[in-house]
Formats: sequence, C-alpha cells, structure tokens
Amino acid sequence: MKHLRDKRATQKIRDKYAETRILAADFVYPYFVTPGKKIKEAIKGFEGINRFSPDMLVKDIPGILKYGVDKVLLFGTPDESEKDETGSGAYSGTGIVPAAVREIKKYFPKITVITDVCMCAYTKSGHCGIVRGGTVLNDETLPYLAKTALAHAAAGADIVAPSAMMDGQVDAIRKILDKNGFDNVKILAYSAKYASCLYGPFREAEKSTPSFGDRKSYQMDYRNSKEAMLEVKEDIKEGADMVMVKPAHAYLDIIRAVRAAYPKIPLAAYHVSGEYAMLKAAARAGVFDEKAAMMEVLTAIKRAGADTIITYFAVEAARLIGGKK
Ligand SMILES: [Zn+2]
Repeated sequence: MKHLRDKRATQKIRDKYAETRILAADFVYPYFVTPGKKIKEAIKGFEGINRFSPDMLVKDIPGILKYGVDKVLLFGTPDESEKDETGSGAYSGTGIVPAAVREIKKYFPKITVITDVCMCAYTKSGHCGIVRGGTVLNDETLPYLAKTALAHAAAGADIVAPSAMMDGQVDAIRKILDKNGFDNVKILAYSAKYASCLYGPFREAEKSTPSFGDRKSYQMDYRNSKEAMLEVKEDIKEGADMVMVKPAHAYLDIIRAVRAAYPKIPLAAYHVSGEYAMLKAAARAGVFDEKAAMMEVLTAIKRAGADTIITYFAVEAARLIGGKK
C-alpha cells in the first residue's frame, strides 16, 4: 500500500485503506459499583471514573449507549464492614454485583453484562482467595469463586470473568454453571494477568490493596511470556469462551503471541487503570494531545490482535469515532 504514504493521498484515502479500525463495538466499559443509593463519587487519582450505587449506575448507562458502547464490566466495591475471611460478600445473592446486574437488566436487557469474579474486594486480607498462615490457598479458593460466578449468573450476567488467577478456576466455574442450568453464560478468563504496577488507580477504586505481601504468587511475572501461553492453553482446555491479556499497552507482544497461537479464540485486552492514567497525566503535562494518544494506543491494541478492548477510555473513544468532539 505504497500509495498510502504518497504525499498526494488525501486523509480520506488513508482512512479508507487503513488496515485497523477501532469501533465502539470493540469496547467494554468498566464500572465500579457500591452499595447504597444516590451515590456517584469520584475516585481519587482516577480521573473521570466514579463509583456508582446501582440506582445511579442505570442513570449513567444511556450516556454510554448513546455512543454505541453496549458492554460493561462490573467490579463490586463493598463496604469495609462487609469484608470477612472468606469474602462472603462476593458470593452472596444479595451482594452488590448481583444487585447491580439485576438493576441493569431491568432497564437495559440488551446490554452485555460481564462481571468480575474475584475475592480481593471482599476479603479482609485483600487477597484474591482464601488465606491461611499467610498463604493464598489455590484449591480451597475454587469453590468460593464458583459460588461467586453462580450468584452473578443467577442475577442475569451474560459473561463471568474470573480474575483471581487460581489454577482450575475456569473448570470449577464451568461445572457449577452447567449444573445449575446456566450453560449459556460465557466465561471470559483473565488468562494472562501480570503482577503489574499499572493497577494503582484501580486498587484505589476497589480499596483492594493486599494487607500483606503482594499478588506475585498467583499473578504472572512480567519477565515471562511462555507462562502466559500455558495459562491461555489451560483456560481454553478448561472451557473458557474468551481469554484476556492484562495489562494491554505494555503487553502488546503477549496479545500478538496469543492471537498467533489461537487465531479463532475471542481475545480481550485490558487497558488498565495505570495505562489510562498515564496518558491522561502526560496529556495534561503537555506531552501530547490526549485524544491522539488515546486513539493511537487503542488502535495498537487492536492491531496487535485483540478483538475486545476493556478500557476506561471506551466512552471517550466511541464518542470520537462517532464523529462527535
Ligand atoms: Zn482479585
């Protein structure tokens, strides 16, 4: 496509022949949901992102649908008083995520609702599983994650997204869903989730910084890529309908490798809170134009091979793609 670099080519021609195009339909918009009523609170260090109570969340949704964003990913942020050793708020049928799912589905049945399935926002330890003697126990955590996914499915979630990085979590969830008649609920596995410093603003939003240690025993070391391929392989074998790479911008090589190895598996990439925040901060400091940087980075994620991009920029990017300033 030499002519695309031809000085005579107009912008219109370049647009017409561009290989990669991002669309509003590619995006998933994350929401933080919290118990209560009439709550819409800004999150410190997380520009433009709020915590919503379910009644306020449904008031926000028309504003994203307007630009064609019709997939959301819900994270529960329960009250501090609800946290306990086994994270019981995570799998309670009346917990914050099931409540938010029901509220969304009541008013917007066609929206695709994806729910994060993990324990870290609900455990006193802030870890993603059951802790004993200072260690996160993989196998003992599995039934809790399964119960959590079931509670979300029963509330009407279309897709459950286990993010705890426990071995066997996809299998445990698939089995409990099938056993309870939720065969049509899909699983988006956080297959290649790296232990990353780029989750900072998210931890503030979720109030889920571990009370001791870190998550390096179950999240991946950023120096490794082969391990990511093994995790993806395992999750697909266990029945994942979609797999995810997280973070995205700093992990384009992993996205590319997963896409090459599994050309047909739906692949999501999570453009995480720190990746979002650094573009915002750099733009504010005059380093570059925010919209230009946003479009370039999101396009790069898709060009690397992602079908779906989970991003806090979803609405801003969709608005721009739709031709609105
Ligand atoms: Zn977690």
